[in-house]
Amino acid sequence: MMTFIDEAQRPPLKTQIVIVGGGAAGLELATRLGRRFGRKHHDIILVERDRTHIWKPLLHEVAAGALDANIDEVGYRAHAYRWKYRYFHGTLEEVDTDSREVVIAPLLDEAGAEIVGRHRIRYDYLVLAYGSVTNDFSTPGVRENCFFLDSREQADRFRDHLLNHCLRVSRAMMADRQADARVRIAIVGGGATGVELAAELYNAADALSHYGLEVFDRRRLEVTLIEAGPRILPALPEKLSQAVTSELEKLGVRVLTGTMVSEVESDGMRFASGDRIPADIRLWAAGIKARPIDGRLGDLEVNGNGQVVVRPTLQTTLHDEIFVMGDCAACRLPGSDRLVPPRAQAAHQMAAAVFANLCHAMRGEAPQPFVYRDRGSLVSISRFSTIGTLMGALVGGALAIEGRLARLVYLSLYRLHLIAIHGWIKGLALMIVGRVNAFVRPRLKLH
Ligand SMILES: Cc1cc2nc3c(=O)[nH]c(=O)nc-3n(C[C@H](O)[C@H](O)[C@H](O)COP(=O)(O)OP(=O)(O)OC[C@H]3O[C@@H](n4cnc5c(N)ncnc54)[C@H](O)[C@@H]3O)c2cc1C
Repeated sequence: MMTFIDEAQRPPLKTQIVIVGGGAAGLELATRLGRRFGRKHHDIILVERDRTHIWKPLLHEVAAGALDANIDEVGYRAHAYRWKYRYFHGTLEEVDTDSREVVIAPLLDEAGAEIVGRHRIRYDYLVLAYGSVTNDFSTPGVRENCFFLDSREQADRFRDHLLNHCLRVSRAMMADRQADARVRIAIVGGGATGVELAAELYNAADALSHYGLEVFDRRRLEVTLIEAGPRILPALPEKLSQAVTSELEKLGVRVLTGTMVSEVESDGMRFASGDRIPADIRLWAAGIKARPIDGRLGDLEVNGNGQVVVRPTLQTTLHDEIFVMGDCAACRLPGSDRLVPPRAQAAHQMAAAVFANLCHAMRGEAPQPFVYRDRGSLVSISRFSTIGTLMGALVGGALAIEGRLARLVYLSLYRLHLIAIHGWIKGLALMIVGRVNAFVRPRLKLH
């Protein structure tokens, strides 16, 4: 017997908003959308390849052992339940703009067995926020011989490798007090990541001597920071970049500017000048490119860096229903000759702008152009110092700051993220827990 479905009786399809990537931008947007629309008339779906979220600017601290990621990470399932969105554990493989579906790659277990097969998810609105990866500029040997700081796993691996090496040096020193054993670390990229990691390593070296590596101290550490440009931290005014260079040099970091790495080997780096330095641990942090989705982004316009080109409203050039935000967006705002920079503050602001524009779009109103407010750049030189600029009308343009105030402003970006994804009460509670942990837990994560 055939049954007929009365179309009038069929519940209307919910408006489905699919967000790909639950990082600095995507998780903030999922939280806002879930809080506003819940599960009643909308389905908010977050597709994320990881099970837990850790705010990416913390990764250099995880790498140096200064932060235990287990404490700061956020589990997506519990977060989704609390904020009334749905979390799909999976990796975006393709965007099918014709059928308005995304294709999610098969989910495999550690042994490679399939847990969930390849599947499609329909969208009414799609938001791409899958971030970026480090750009190796096709330099020979980088993929094989360098660490990167693109994910929690990579940061954990770097830390384990670092601790093993420090232990090896410490044992060598104990066996022979006259031995000149060292941990030689080369970091490529004089941006915030490279600078902050270099300083954090000295903090770690200081702490290690308290945790069983009695003969280890910062004199055993030999960190070289290599930058192809004429100075480190090009986003900061020259004077501040010099101030950071001298702070690093005081710690013991060798800063090489105007130095182009031509090849990375398993035990060192070669420069275009022909020089070579030995390095036991090599980390590459010299620029970013959008995460490759294997060129399977339908007819979305992509720039040479792999980022999806968007209009000032953060909608893609051909599809009003697709928004892109964070590091994977190429957004050039009117009156500016540069793209909005790939930074956490831009991701935070874009999440708010896409939320507002999705609300406009669903009410049939015109979306509004995104306005990027550069609040300045701050660089943390571990516990030793914080240096940078504050921008804005309140301070009358750009104001150089340093010390406690700079540290406070530096921390405020993460605090804003905590409040955006947990709400005020839990966000504030977590900040207090963070302070307590800093007091009761060891200075270094050693396992
Ligand atoms: C070590 C380090 C230090 C930094 N320090 C600073 C700083 O001090 N100040 C600052 O402003 N910026 C800083 N940044 C840059 C900042 O972290 C990024 O600009 C910001 O995180 C970008 O946010 P996003 O949401 O675009 O991407 P992300 O935060 O990287 O999130 C992307 C998410 O997408 C997921 N994903 C990726 N591919 C897929 C896929 N195919 N399918 C499903 N999910 C996927 C990832 O797992 C991730 O959760 C730092 C970056 C690093 C690495």
